[in-house]
Amino acid sequence: MVCELMPELPEITVIAGQMNREIAGKCVAIVEAKQPKNLNIPVAEFEKIINGKIVNEVFSRGKWIFIKLSAAYYLLVNLGMGAELLYFAPNQRFPEKYHFKIAFSDESGFAIHFWWFGYIHLVHEKELSKHELTAKLGVSPTDESFTLENFKKLLANKKGRIKDFLLDQKNVAGVGNVYVQDILFKARLHPNRKIPTISEKEIESLYKAIISTLNHSIKLGGLAYEKDFYGKSGRFTLDEFLVGYKTGKPCPSCKTPIEKIKTGSTSSYICPKCQLL
Ligand SMILES: [Zn+2]
Repeated sequence: MVCELMPELPEITVIAGQMNREIAGKCVAIVEAKQPKNLNIPVAEFEKIINGKIVNEVFSRGKWIFIKLSAAYYLLVNLGMGAELLYFAPNQRFPEKYHFKIAFSDESGFAIHFWWFGYIHLVHEKELSKHELTAKLGVSPTDESFTLENFKKLLANKKGRIKDFLLDQKNVAGVGNVYVQDILFKARLHPNRKIPTISEKEIESLYKAIISTLNHSIKLGGLAYEKDFYGKSGRFTLDEFLVGYKTGKPCPSCKTPIEKIKTGSTSSYICPKCQLL
């Protein structure tokens, strides 16, 4: 059960914020890429470009971490199914197991150990719009541009099922199969509801549910099964879920047992009474 819990927007937002506070302004001194297939360019070229670059800022979009470097490069990191992305202070022993490491001129740095697979792509600012994996990312629900009006526009003329829409990173970036469960429950929507049948009022509840669910987890530091930049686990435990991963437990609204159902290629946890199709 727990292995299904992958990092989504809250976990990535927390790490990117911590990284920004800790490494902005630092100068890249040493790079070690043990797994060349994580990179988009040959290791030697990667090292040549990144050495001596200064970190301008770190932010996130959806499930991606954007590390903006001077001058004019971005280091784009995606943790895939999960990873440990850990900071190390000067003179601190850094993690033994890692696939990628950057040390700065002050001897602090960070190391990444992927659980399965992930991406570390170095892209010039001018090529950013051509970077296939991030160029088409939709709006992150934590962005100012994620307004109710814009959300309604995104849904207009869409024909598919609401859960598929939410999981498609081109529509809304950062929601995955973990948080989507409670988002749909809060909005009282069945995962297979066809978008054209959803009322304005339901869209409004869905919009509010996305923001409240993700922000609640950000406040708790993300999932308890993921580590932040300092190796600390989040406080969003299984108990925090309303219906997600709660098969057989009573619905928090009506006490009907929660069901786990198959929806397309993913599993969904629903209250069969509150989330009618
Ligand atoms: Zn219910």
